[in-house]
Amino acid sequence: VAKKEGKNKVLLYKENIHEDIMWHINMSNKLQKALDNKEFELYYQPQIELSSGRIVSLEALVRWNHPTEGFIPPSDFIPVAEETGQIYGLEQRIFRNALIQKQKWEQKGYRDITLSLNLSSKTLISNMNFRFIESILSEFHVDYTKFVVEITETAAISNVELAIERLNRLKSRGLKIALDDFGTGYSSITYLKQLPIDIIKLDKSYVKSVTDGRRDGSIIKFILSLARDLNLTVVAEGIETSKQLEYLKNINCSLGQGYFISIPQPAEAITEMLSNNTSTYK
Ligand code: C2E
Ligand code: MG
Ligand code: MG
Ligand code: MG
Repeated sequence: VAKKEGKNKVLLYKENIHEDIMWHINMSNKLQKALDNKEFELYYQPQIELSSGRIVSLEALVRWNHPTEGFIPPSDFIPVAEETGQIYGLEQRIFRNALIQKQKWEQKGYRDITLSLNLSSKTLISNMNFRFIESILSEFHVDYTKFVVEITETAAISNVELAIERLNRLKSRGLKIALDDFGTGYSSITYLKQLPIDIIKLDKSYVKSVTDGRRDGSIIKFILSLARDLNLTVVAEGIETSKQLEYLKNINCSLGQGYFISIPQPAEAITEMLSNNTSTYK
């Protein structure tokens, strides 16, 4: 019986691998069609100054609306696009579209609003594709001191020397660098001192448990004091309740982002919010 079960398990395992490969191939094919059909759109999620409630920054987040399957989340397709290399073309398009939008907002007078873009580790590390991104940046004459590139810890860690050189090249244009999902990677603190980081985005897992009476509250306070010492701005991600927002505000976390403040929205809806940018929560 044991032998039979073992055999079945092996078969099951093989079937899963097969399914997994098919899922990837299918996703990659759909991605190619989506790139050709322009099925992607950028949404923007506000980041507010917690002390005033004012929107100071926007994070661009890609949205894929598939004609028959509907909304496909980035967590499903970004990893596949990174594996296949489709991320490069997608990211170039994202940068160009976001810069066009930034230009529009600047023309409308919203010059002080910072725009944040996520940059895949793949692009950061690829010589040719990183240069493509740089040349896109050169095409636009927007205020790059109000422009942030968000990278994840793993991205930087896979090749620290290269990451430092690339990030400094971005910074020489005035851009700022944010370390995304801070606290979820490893060696976070060591790399904080090595990499030319300006902003840390505290991962939502810390924010979630901030009012649970668990230990994360003290971890956040520790991160905030560390950030103060290193002269870094902290953005708390994933604020979903007023309680979390109040807590973070009270411990002097400077910026916040999350569904409680605003979900990511199309550019037009954001423009509407900016036209009335005093306080976004009561
Ligand atoms: P991220 O950069 O950490 O983005 C924040 C994610 O948290 C977004 O998910 C956002 O919609 C979500 N979020 C915002 N507020 C809340 C909240 O209060 N609660 C919860 N539970 N979630 C919240 P999204 O848009 O699904 O993106 C997931 C990830 O995919 C991003 O994480 C980023 O790593 C990647 N991604 C998204 N857009 C792009 C892009 O244009 N380029 C690249 N390279 N990666 C992207
Ligand atoms: Mg991000
Ligand atoms: Mg994040
Ligand atoms: Mg993330």
